[in-house]
Amino acid sequence: MADTAVITSVITAASTNQYEGEPMTTGVAPGVTRPRIAAEEPMLIGDSWTCGSGGRIAVLDPATEELLTTVGLAGPAEVDAAVAAAMAAHRDGRWRGRTPEWRRDVLARLADLAESRAEELAVLETLDNGKPIERARGDVALGIAAIRHCAGAPARLTGAVQPAGTDRHVYTSREPVGPAALVLPWNFPFMIAAWKVSAALAAGCPVVVKPAEQTPLTALRLAALCLDAGVPAGVVDVLTGGGSTGAALVAHPGIAKVSFTGSTEVGRSVMAAAAGRVTPVTLELGGKSPNIVFADADLDRVLTTLPRTVFAHSGQMCTAGSRLLVHRSVRDEVLERLVPLVDALPVGNGLTGGITVGPLVSAVQRDRVASYLDLGRAEGATVLAGGGVRGGPGFFVEPTVLTGLGADARCVREEIFGPVLTVLEFDTDDEAVALANDSEYGLAAGIWTSDLARAHRTAAALEAGTVWVNTYNEFHPAVPFGGVKQSGIGRDLGDAAVESFTELKSVTVAL
Ligand code: NAD
Repeated sequence: MADTAVITSVITAASTNQYEGEPMTTGVAPGVTRPRIAAEEPMLIGDSWTCGSGGRIAVLDPATEELLTTVGLAGPAEVDAAVAAAMAAHRDGRWRGRTPEWRRDVLARLADLAESRAEELAVLETLDNGKPIERARGDVALGIAAIRHCAGAPARLTGAVQPAGTDRHVYTSREPVGPAALVLPWNFPFMIAAWKVSAALAAGCPVVVKPAEQTPLTALRLAALCLDAGVPAGVVDVLTGGGSTGAALVAHPGIAKVSFTGSTEVGRSVMAAAAGRVTPVTLELGGKSPNIVFADADLDRVLTTLPRTVFAHSGQMCTAGSRLLVHRSVRDEVLERLVPLVDALPVGNGLTGGITVGPLVSAVQRDRVASYLDLGRAEGATVLAGGGVRGGPGFFVEPTVLTGLGADARCVREEIFGPVLTVLEFDTDDEAVALANDSEYGLAAGIWTSDLARAHRTAAALEAGTVWVNTYNEFHPAVPFGGVKQSGIGRDLGDAAVESFTELKSVTVAL
């Protein structure tokens, strides 16, 4: 069968799925069109959109607490069916058996389709997660950039010929590892789905995606777009559900690779479950990233960037620069200038536009952050800005700056995952590095200095998977991203991510 014929038939089948619909324009800010959301959003197993046989999960708009829709709670039957669909797709080679060029074209088409629906995806993301619409647009763009980057990857997956003597021909090749379980967090629902799905597909692996229960909608749209782009049915399956669904998926014997993004606590249990079958894992986990301001830093630049490093996405970023380490000589100036900026950050419904701090994703998360505000006060913190929870509707916490805590305070050491900044001072470069590395996490770090040698010296000394110098939170599809220590294992993005969905095979031929 010609490739184009396959693609046409898939487009026809997918055109009936649920993401098409009349746009609605009520209940949202001017200029923003509200996408259609079905009363019950089905999951995708093989070629079927199904509501599943288990219970339902309510999906709320965290800014209004309005019920957006419900999704199914996938149980063992759905997990088995989705993994079976992915295994069948892997066995018959309907994806990995295609030429690299064919898979490249499908991924490029997926990027084009997602781009044509970028605004709809961004609005949906804001409704589902609460993040400001401008941030959601940026996330969607970065997800699409990763898909486009991965479109070029199938042809880059080469092996090597090893010089093993004249009587042997020895070479390596990269093979797709098999059906991959992709378990997603709620803070970057589309972006991380796009990163992981495109890397796995580029490697030739079918995937079973498990979005977070709080934010399943854009991963479902991405799956629909995959079908439209010509990804054969069964290659991308999506299970909606909670922790029990994720646990059943990662332990399933048909799963050959697990790529998980979420908390360190759940990451440990995912790793333990995978250990039972020696399934390889990529774990992108929590962080408590230091942002180090040296005395020679360009403070105008620092203060332009600093608020967004910790308060954007309401602090619900694994890379949030939530530990400000500042040289004692500039500490007062930094704080005097920072506090009014934090006090002035617009807090509100992310769909209204111009908002910096949207709601937390859920009441549970708001209450968790609130408990850290109480803890900070109990630990002796001075609250320089914010410190409160806003009354509903919506799950809002004020952007908060805490000073006066020691390096051992729990608010300084634990991932709060909310709009909370703690501040510590240092006197020497060594002290700055020691404070920065005094953490069980090692995801990211920021360095602010005008001294090039100090920048490189410090970058080399920091225990972190990513270091930004005189900038923060910059991502690029070609640049691997991930953590060290308890921030995880393996990398998203870059060729490293694609390769993580492959195994190297070595072939020795006696001549
Ligand atoms: P979480 O760990 O609670 O949940 C993540 C996902 O795992 C969800 O889909 C959830 O349903 C599922 N899950 C829950 N229990 C499971 C189990 N036992 N087995 C398998 N799956 C299970 O994380 P979250 O609250 O959604 O996300 C916030 C966390 O994610 C933060 O700690 C943040 O730092 C981290 N994060 C890390 C990165 C990174 O790249 N390092 C990126 C984004 C978020």
